[in-house]
Amino acid sequence: VNLGPAEIGQRSETVRRSNLSTIVRVLHAGGALSRSDLVARTGLTRSAIRSLTGELVAADLAIEEPPTLLGTPGRPSPVVRLNPEGSISLGLEIAVDSLAATVVGLGGEILALTREPRHRGHSSIDEVIVALARLADHVLDERPADTRLAGIGVAVVGVVRERDGLVSMAPNLGWHDVPLGERLADALALPAAVGVANEADLGALAEHRRGVGVGTDDLVFISGEVGVGGGLIVGGRPLRGAAGYGGEVGHMVVNPAGDACRCGSVGCWETEVGEEKLLRRAGRPDSGGAGSVDALLKDAAGGDLRAIAALGETARWLGLGLGSLVNVLNPRLVVLGGRFGRIFPFIRETLRTELDRHALEAPARLVSVLPAGLGVDAPLIGAAERAFDSILADPAAVIASRLGSAEPANPYERASA
Ligand SMILES: [Zn+2]
Repeated sequence: VNLGPAEIGQRSETVRRSNLSTIVRVLHAGGALSRSDLVARTGLTRSAIRSLTGELVAADLAIEEPPTLLGTPGRPSPVVRLNPEGSISLGLEIAVDSLAATVVGLGGEILALTREPRHRGHSSIDEVIVALARLADHVLDERPADTRLAGIGVAVVGVVRERDGLVSMAPNLGWHDVPLGERLADALALPAAVGVANEADLGALAEHRRGVGVGTDDLVFISGEVGVGGGLIVGGRPLRGAAGYGGEVGHMVVNPAGDACRCGSVGCWETEVGEEKLLRRAGRPDSGGAGSVDALLKDAAGGDLRAIAALGETARWLGLGLGSLVNVLNPRLVVLGGRFGRIFPFIRETLRTELDRHALEAPARLVSVLPAGLGVDAPLIGAAERAFDSILADPAAVIASRLGSAEPANPYERASA
């Protein structure tokens, strides 16, 4: 293949973009690194690292600090870190019992976070939009969102078509085919794209990047509130299905002789492991919300036999469903988020016994079960993390918009003859 000067120029521009992306990804995932560590981690040359980190610093995306002199052999190397205020993302969450907003800086630092209780039950889209816009204002504060905002991510407790942020079904909000992405983009009027996704998918992303799943490329995130959501990461990538509806493990049928589910089916996993059934098993009103689960846990800790038995029964159904998931997906890690993280200490042993009973021996031996490292904020943090995806994929575009570029970048590589 003979390339003319124009093609060679485009090739090297493509290489530069891809190398910048590699550096930003490595720093975003792992924190500050010396230039020599960056050389080792990326496989790029010392001079390439020097020139590319120079570009990131010039565009305010990274900060270079003098080397720390720790008696290491060789020339000390400056330390490069991403600038958290250099690019920010806005994360929003619509949960069953709360609304939340966060601002995260490039590199993963949480710069602001607020959560307020929401009245459980159905809400109109208008009410939710107004409340979220207010929370967004609050966390963005005086930050220059016009130039620094990389993106806006929204976690919602429902089934979402990711292409346009249409909430197809959110039984706990009473929503059906609600154009959440569109409505929020209008209301926020911020110069960044709005991406909406299911809360458990985003919880999985957050735990994979920042929580107990760091370094684990096959994990299952299960979040439990009233409903039960699932987020699956397979081979380091989210399993979304054809349109982003994948991973709805809460609607696996585990008990065809069981209760009717909100989704219209019968005996879905969430009818056996969800909060309402736990409360009913303990002989308590099933509409009590977070406070009543806390009360149940407190009573169980104090020796209340009915509360202990109810938790045991929930643990058995949880282990049964997890056993099937372990057989299908062979994950290294199951992360329990939402309310499941809180009840985990009470159900750990029964859950494990039941999982081992239902899963095949080989995959069962490989899997650990842990509570979410980021607690209830996992989906919110995941929403903000997802909003960084475009800058992680192409930081050169941001550099060009801030500094102008010597050669106007052509994103479409010409096919070579
Ligand atoms: Zn269902």
